Amino acid sequence: MGRKFFVGGNWKMNGDKESIDKIIDFLKAGPLDPNCDVVVGVPAPYLMYCRERLPENVGVAAQNCHKAAKGAFTGEIAAAMIKDCGCKWVILGHSERRNVAFALENGLHIIPCIGEKLEEREAGKTEEVCFKQLKAIADKVSDWSRVVLAYEPVWAIGTGKTATPEQAQETHAALRKWLSENVSPEVAENLRILYGGSVTAANCKELAKCADIDGSLVGGASLKPEFVEIINASQ
Ligand code: PEP
Repeated sequence: MGRKFFVGGNWKMNGDKESIDKIIDFLKAGPLDPNCDVVVGVPAPYLMYCRERLPENVGVAAQNCHKAAKGAFTGEIAAAMIKDCGCKWVILGHSERRNVAFALENGLHIIPCIGEKLEEREAGKTEEVCFKQLKAIADKVSDWSRVVLAYEPVWAIGTGKTATPEQAQETHAALRKWLSENVSPEVAENLRILYGGSVTAANCKELAKCADIDGSLVGGASLKPEFVEIINASQ
């Protein structure tokens, strides 16, 4: 069994009920490739609204969560609150945040994001930076079956500048090799690694063809009907 294709949408701080209803409509209309896991990362106030309206085959993720169970943390949201809203997933932004372990311990599935800045790529430090971030995650993970990793070069996020399929594949292969050598060959073989950074309907198919790219994490385009094409990119 190969790794199942996975596409995550990251709505960031966008949407109101009216525009979310439109996204829900195009996701319901699909048709969505049944061989792709789909998860959308929605703003916290709409977690329950989206979970109640989206079909079961579309997972709902929070965009972050705090590292403590509860308490005086103004503006934060807890892993238990996400689950209480019926959602199973959380996107976690910074690889060195301790909430990776906390979210997993509390039963969530996580999408941690890693990636280098432009100056780091230009200095030839892409792998060094990504391995350091991945190590910080790996040190906190005991159950890899609830992790989907996203490689998101910072210079490609929201900029319209996508990594070429060759650049993305090269880094994905290096990450998988690191996992094989530092975690286990089984984890390296089974972990889905998504590419994120200006993925659109126009470039998703070429990226999906790469051996070590198992899907995408999509920001801007996940708010538009072209998101359905991105979900179906591996068909
Ligand atoms: C993201 O938000 O994770 C992202 C990759 O954004 P965009 O697709 O808009 O570059």
